[in-house]
Amino acid sequence: MLSSTAHHADVIIVGAGIAGLSAAHQLTGAGVTVRVLEAAPEVGGRMATEELDGFRLDRIGQLLNTSYPELRRTGGLGDVALRPFSPGVLVHSGGRLQRTGEVVRRTGEPGGARWGSPHALRGVGGAFTVARALASAPRPLDQARLGASLARLAGTSVDRLLARPERATAGSLCARGMPARTVHGFLRPLLSTLLCDPALITSSRCADLALRGFARGLMCVPEGGAAALPRQLAAALPPGTVHTGIRVSDASISRVRTREYGELRCRALLLATGARAAAELLPGLRVPPFHPVTVLHHTAPRAPLADPALVLDADRGGPVSHTAVMSEVDPSRAPAGRVLISSTVLGTPPPYVDRRVRAHLATLYGTPTDDWELLSVHHDPEAVPAMPPPHDLRRPVRLLSGLYVCGDHRDTSTVQGALFSGRRAAEAILRDFGVQSSREEASAFSAAA
Ligand SMILES: Cc1cc2nc3c(=O)[nH]c(=O)nc-3n(C[C@H](O)[C@H](O)[C@H](O)COP(=O)(O)OP(=O)(O)OC[C@H]3O[C@@H](n4cnc5c(N)ncnc54)[C@H](O)[C@@H]3O)c2cc1C
Repeated sequence: MLSSTAHHADVIIVGAGIAGLSAAHQLTGAGVTVRVLEAAPEVGGRMATEELDGFRLDRIGQLLNTSYPELRRTGGLGDVALRPFSPGVLVHSGGRLQRTGEVVRRTGEPGGARWGSPHALRGVGGAFTVARALASAPRPLDQARLGASLARLAGTSVDRLLARPERATAGSLCARGMPARTVHGFLRPLLSTLLCDPALITSSRCADLALRGFARGLMCVPEGGAAALPRQLAAALPPGTVHTGIRVSDASISRVRTREYGELRCRALLLATGARAAAELLPGLRVPPFHPVTVLHHTAPRAPLADPALVLDADRGGPVSHTAVMSEVDPSRAPAGRVLISSTVLGTPPPYVDRRVRAHLATLYGTPTDDWELLSVHHDPEAVPAMPPPHDLRRPVRLLSGLYVCGDHRDTSTVQGALFSGRRAAEAILRDFGVQSSREEASAFSAAA
């Protein structure tokens, strides 16, 4: 319920996804009054987790990386625990699973990492050495070359990466100085997964940044589900800042109209919805094309793999892009003794998606899946804004004084991009208000990952 004082605020933010919540943190931290209005009953937007019989099921196949700078820089995320995957990835290729892309770190190590703890921070920021060729790998030389190449990339500055020619990722793969076997057996499936883009139409600059992040950190998920992250952000805001179940139907610089509470007034308005909803409220804003994503959760009588690994398929033997035994990665996502397997299908899903996915998982894990139980399927046709070249990594967040927009569609289509867009928008608002931001020192591109 909104009190009468809540009908006015310095800044109204429309949307309590992580972009809007990130902006709210910067603004409230600078002493500005903020109301975040969220149409859904819960905060988090696309970072949603459903609870079913003790399972915690993400609607998205969320992969974070410990190298995302904004995870550490955003106030309020200090207590979010992250569960890392085992280093590298397990690639199914030529009918067998092999670990690849492992970068040996001097100091980083897997385990339940909590932000602020030495474990969490040590993996970030260049504590890498050359990769080792895995003794078990069928092509140790390829593995060693790949590891050395990832280590070089991890040490390359973002500015240098962004100075490279930009084209579609698919066309840039062979120019990366790696053997075709490595391109098809590692780079292609990994980048498809990281970019949610099976055809790899994404800008090669975004691919470079994603690969650099992979080389610098560990892939991980928030403990307890993706929703833990926005919930934590919202809980750290001053009481009364976030209001759920309020849909904004009309917006201008100085006021918004809601179905539930009529008109609310403000000095500045920040649209932090997804790209399409932003364009509905503010006609003229660009709506990008999107990548559709489908996520399926199964439970099985036994874990098909006793390893918290991310499994990719280089053979492209079915619709699954990546899969993991999530109860191994984050035991809190399944009731004690139960198994949770989460799998992601990129692009338009095939008919009978569960049947096709089960057949594919049987091949990937090398075990029958007939007795697995489907817990949920979630399809999002507009999961991730596409980033074809030329892609502007820093689309303007200030439209005019008093009117701002943020969200993953203004940066990169990732949690890092969404959080950073919120920071940029808040800094623009504070500048227009004549208020000094506490973290204005951030240089635009140093935060790209
Ligand atoms: C299936 C899937 C897989 C993904 N995989 C990854 C991944 O592996 N790694 C990664 O980094 N990122 C991934 N992403 C992307 C990441 O989840 C998003 O980039 C990020 O969550 C976007 O946050 P946001 O705040 O910009 O937008 P959103 O989360 O969309 O938040 C916008 C909010 O605005 C609200 N809203 C809209 N209209 C109104 C209105 N009129 N009034 C009030 N409120 C409104 C919505 O309800 C929503 O809560 C994935 C996304 C999906 C869907």
